[in-house]
Amino acid sequence: MGLSVNFYFIRQNLGSNGVALPKRRKSKSASRMRRSHDAIGVPNLRPCSKCGAYVLPHRVCPECGHYKGILVIEPRVKIKEAK
Ligand SMILES: [Zn+2]
Repeated sequence: MGLSVNFYFIRQNLGSNGVALPKRRKSKSASRMRRSHDAIGVPNLRPCSKCGAYVLPHRVCPECGHYKGILVIEPRVKIKEAK
């Protein structure tokens, strides 16, 4: 009570910047179990209704420039044709 100082902070495992650190290292098993859900899935590709190229849904087809059957952007210029 009174002017007594609380020294409990000394027991805390703090880094050089004062941020709390984990008490112990995470085991290989725990890290690997967490990362078992980190894999990137296969993209949900659908064939373009105009040209049939596989494109992401709700996006303009980069091959023919169509979206829902309407020409929206200039179709991609092939590198072979440009040279
Ligand atoms: Zn297309």
